[in-house]
Amino acid sequence: MSQRKRVALLGASGSIGCSTLDVIRENPESFVLFAVTAHKNLQVLAGIISEFRPRIAVVSDNNREAMDAEAFEALRRVADEAGTDIIQGADALDQLVSMAEVDVVVAGIVGAAGLASVFAAARHGKRILLANKEALVMSGAVLMDTVLRHGATLLPIDSEHNAIFQCLPDRLQQAVACKSALQHLPDAAAADTLWDGISRVHLTASGGPFRGRSRDSLSKVTPEEACKHPNWQMGQKISIDSASLMNKGLELIEACWLFDLRPKQINVVIHPESIIHSMVEFIDGSVLAQLGAPDMKTPIASALGWPRRIGSRSARLDLFALNGLHFEAPDLVAFPCLRLAGEAFEAGGAAPAVLNAANEVAVQAFIDGQIGFLDISKVIQASLDSCIIHEASTLEAIVEADARSRVCAEELVRRFS
Ligand code: NAD
Ligand code: MG
Repeated sequence: MSQRKRVALLGASGSIGCSTLDVIRENPESFVLFAVTAHKNLQVLAGIISEFRPRIAVVSDNNREAMDAEAFEALRRVADEAGTDIIQGADALDQLVSMAEVDVVVAGIVGAAGLASVFAAARHGKRILLANKEALVMSGAVLMDTVLRHGATLLPIDSEHNAIFQCLPDRLQQAVACKSALQHLPDAAAADTLWDGISRVHLTASGGPFRGRSRDSLSKVTPEEACKHPNWQMGQKISIDSASLMNKGLELIEACWLFDLRPKQINVVIHPESIIHSMVEFIDGSVLAQLGAPDMKTPIASALGWPRRIGSRSARLDLFALNGLHFEAPDLVAFPCLRLAGEAFEAGGAAPAVLNAANEVAVQAFIDGQIGFLDISKVIQASLDSCIIHEASTLEAIVEADARSRVCAEELVRRFS
């Protein structure tokens, strides 16, 4: 019993949360759900509490007036019965991840809202399973440094990054997860050949629901169409990011920070079947790939168990049912967000935080019917052009850049709508 790892699941009510719960259900002898968090979806949270009886639940939405009082009362009754303490308040997430009882933090909150809790987990030396790519995109160098200085462990559960991680030799997996060993390797970013004989990384992308379409044909697409992802069941924001290829742009930046790469060392490949989750190419011409059914339970289990293998309840890959695997180059004219992300990474400083904030504002405006799909990239481009913020060497500076970029992007949305 005491050997079980205690998991704090941030964003328990979301898509990553749901998949993580299944992996925990499969491994009750190894993991116990210590804490859960949700923003608004109190009914889902109540269901999780009644099944898992965690010690703590955080409801992070502080807007009590907007909160459904009846649903909150029902949640409280379920929590009392389960022996779960409900915590609320601005710093509840930080408090939670800082607790000594927490061994593993699953960062499954969407967007910049998850940034502070990822940092708090890093400062407390936790093992962090990172789904919240936006936090890393915003704060790359500062977060990597925080992980290193506080002896935290950062394991990617984004399927592509988890695939790349799985294709690395053990020594490099250790170096990537704990950051420390990367410090002693030659400057990978400056060299043509990456560490340990790796020549480049192939980052795969499904292409989303609009793959093959011209830019002009996308002017009238709706949020519902954008959310219809061909292979993955995901939250609304990441689904729209997949449709615009901004998800791949964010993942390009994520891969640069996690694996100490430059964008030119990463080959983005459209692979519509989402069976190969990414690949690592070595100097002898070998290419190692990680394959699996498109099911987030696999990368989550891989990171939760690492360096062991554990069961996952994931869908199995039926090789005989595949109708071939296809690959094509991304269309950067129809989908400029991927290019914008690479440029923001190269620009450095606060540019990726500006890109991310502008994207979050633009995606929400698209969902709300204020702007069209093609305006998303226009808002981001204009934000990057007009929002001049260079410094991003502290968490405070990043938060400031995020806030300023949001104001700027909201103004642009008003102009476009
Ligand atoms: P989702 O919308 O399904 O769930 C988001 C979760 O975040 C919910 O639990 C919600 O309550 C919480 N949340 C939302 N706003 C919040 C706020 N302001 N404060 C605190 N909590 C808040 O999203 P998802 O698809 O599970 O994605 C979560 C993260 O994982 C994203 O960063 C996404 O890019 C990443 N990711 C998701 C998938 C996937 O398959 N869903 C795959 C790879 C990476
Ligand atoms: Mg991904």
